[in-house]
Amino acid sequence: MSAQPQYTIAVRALCEFTAKTGDLDLRFTPSPTAQEGIAGHAVVTARRGDDYQTELALSGDFGPLRVRGRADGYDARANRIEEIKTYRGDLKKMPDNQRQLHWAQVKVYGHLLCQDQGLDKVNLALVYFDIGSQKETVLQETHTAASLQAWFEQQCTLFLQWAQQELAHRAERDAQLKAMRFPHGDFRPGQRQLAEAMYKASKRGVCLLAQAPTGIGKTVGSLFPMLKASAEHGVDKVFFLAAKTSGRQMALDAVEVIRAGAPLLPLRTLEMASKSTACVNPDKACHGDSCPLAKGFYDRLPAARQAALDIMLPPASGSEPESGATLLALDRDTLRAVALAHDVCPYYLSSEMARWCDIVIGDYNYYFDLSAMLHSLTLLNDWKVNVLVDEAHNMVSRARKMYSADMEHAALRLLRKVVPEELKKPLDRVHRQWNQLEKDQTAEYQSHATLPEKFMGALQTAATAIGDYMAEHPSYVDAGLQEFYFNALLFTRLAESFGDHALFDIEKSEGARASHSNSVLCIRNIVPAPFLKPRFESTHTTALFSATLSPWNYFGDMLGMPDTTAWVDVESPFVAEQLSVQVAAHISTRYQHRQQSLRPIAELMGEQYRRQPGNYLAFFSSFDYMEKAANQFAEHYPEVPVWRQSRRMDETERAQFLARFTLDSAGIGFAVLGGSFGEGVDLPGARLIGAFVATLGLPQINPVNEQIRQRMDAIFGAGYDYTYTYPGMQKVVQAAGRVIRTQSDRGTVYLIDDRFGRPEIQQLMPAWWRIESALLRP
Ligand code: SF4
Repeated sequence: MSAQPQYTIAVRALCEFTAKTGDLDLRFTPSPTAQEGIAGHAVVTARRGDDYQTELALSGDFGPLRVRGRADGYDARANRIEEIKTYRGDLKKMPDNQRQLHWAQVKVYGHLLCQDQGLDKVNLALVYFDIGSQKETVLQETHTAASLQAWFEQQCTLFLQWAQQELAHRAERDAQLKAMRFPHGDFRPGQRQLAEAMYKASKRGVCLLAQAPTGIGKTVGSLFPMLKASAEHGVDKVFFLAAKTSGRQMALDAVEVIRAGAPLLPLRTLEMASKSTACVNPDKACHGDSCPLAKGFYDRLPAARQAALDIMLPPASGSEPESGATLLALDRDTLRAVALAHDVCPYYLSSEMARWCDIVIGDYNYYFDLSAMLHSLTLLNDWKVNVLVDEAHNMVSRARKMYSADMEHAALRLLRKVVPEELKKPLDRVHRQWNQLEKDQTAEYQSHATLPEKFMGALQTAATAIGDYMAEHPSYVDAGLQEFYFNALLFTRLAESFGDHALFDIEKSEGARASHSNSVLCIRNIVPAPFLKPRFESTHTTALFSATLSPWNYFGDMLGMPDTTAWVDVESPFVAEQLSVQVAAHISTRYQHRQQSLRPIAELMGEQYRRQPGNYLAFFSSFDYMEKAANQFAEHYPEVPVWRQSRRMDETERAQFLARFTLDSAGIGFAVLGGSFGEGVDLPGARLIGAFVATLGLPQINPVNEQIRQRMDAIFGAGYDYTYTYPGMQKVVQAAGRVIRTQSDRGTVYLIDDRFGRPEIQQLMPAWWRIESALLRP
């Protein structure tokens, strides 16, 4: 075939498409960690001769297809091409379809090599390297160039129709995107500035930090230009990542708005749900002997995959779309319905569909955590991706969690009593080392500059022993052991990259029995930058946006934004006249003044309510403070309805709380700053006419935060601000931001504390606020 190749696919991706059959089976997992895999490859290749070639780049064409990849190794003297796979446990337990997949890959490499070097035949080897014993099992076959060519062509033929469908989709998608017009006719104030910044960032291939106020239509204002940019800048996919389910829904709504304005646009949109949400058989395990949706999964996958794509097809070009027709995206309900109609697991179908969709909407984790699926697929397939990070002020705290791990001694103590005999010894060793750590530490809390070598060694050995045991006894299920194992793996993995960006700390407490102390060990990431930077670098553009992304240096430093990062501070569509911001500097909300503050706070709120009855939110630093303030207020103003946030409200209770804020109601909702109602709450017009913020939101001063402060000081020279002031003020500005949601809203915000009067604090407030002093009360 002589046609110019247009569709490039990695060898592994091709074989996964064409040569995977049978059950989904995760029993032969967890596989070795990435680090162990790399180390295993290095051991095998070091055992080969000097002329052994590693990472041999190969490619070959078939019609419009270009297939490429890197073979693990080639021994020219033995004329043997090798595919190296690291594993744990009993190799005989590896599912047959996994072995077939490995053969498929090495056969494709065999063909590419024969073609590249003009060979008549070649030896193909699968080298299975046991991480535990460091032994190799080599399976070898000899194939002629002709038979390998036939194999290659067969695989390509199986994929060709799909590739042609993909090429046609991409051409039509890009043509429609280029012609697409903004769905609302005109941009809202500020929205154009945001959209232009997004587009320019993609044009230059740089990251963007965009501070953009609420109410300008940020979701459409970011997705629209990124989609336009996809067509213009050869971008394969856009990932829209949100911190909460509500953010994902807003993205789905924005896609619908965009598609409604461009009904012929073939845009494939997928919402990724977590495995625990998507799983329909939570009492089962992910293999064919347990879960019917895993049995024969790969045999039914092609039909399910095609059905999932067909559901997103726009009407044929030339035909008028039905008015009011819903343009479907693969949101989680739709995807689940398709999966169940084809008897396949919804979660694993969604993982598959991420390969074929143009927009993937999901949690931050999917691109940023240590085993992020979208990031792995991006690298594997060499995708050019644009990533949008919604409500990006959450990234610092969310990323810190992704790169932290903790373990509790009490859990290990319980586990030691119930584990199988083979595991007792390795766990006892961990226990003894742990006891020693507790003995060596006199203080309740201590942060350590280095990791305890002996403990880490024992933990690593225990993790390996558990991994081997689980691989050899796939039907043995113990939730406690599994949890310990995953924690130990994460711990050891984070230990490999331990550095200035993290703390290692031990917090002791009383155990269940007086003779037993308990402690929690934690590798606590505090600067996620070293982990995030490479993730940003593997995107074409990452745009992070939020209403509160200042100061820039804080986010740039903490997130590891590349030096070329652009930033934009989108002008607010709101004007000072819309919001009266008053600082009640006669009140201190410091811990030691809280009791005295209750009465003046209640009076200030009562006076404001008397002047202007309506719906208000009042924010405090803790439940305790909130309760006391609410009691004081209710006692003095019994005629004013009071609604209180309670601890651990579920989704329904939260919705009920917000439902009290209607256009006709009047009352004060008492809430905790940084909780469920401090951000992401949209109460336009008379549903909310004011807020009282009785705290600077500063994180509590405690030993952990003090350690963080010291480290921030050492790294950035701004310990207090980076630990306390900036995170606190972001919460304040977010909470106050609940009041003005549209250009017709009017409202009042009281900032209650004398420190709100300081210039360095006021600098952290939105530029459009005009800050006044609240009248002093006697
Ligand atoms: S339905 Fe649940 S148990 Fe079954 S394969 Fe999917 S995730 Fe695993």
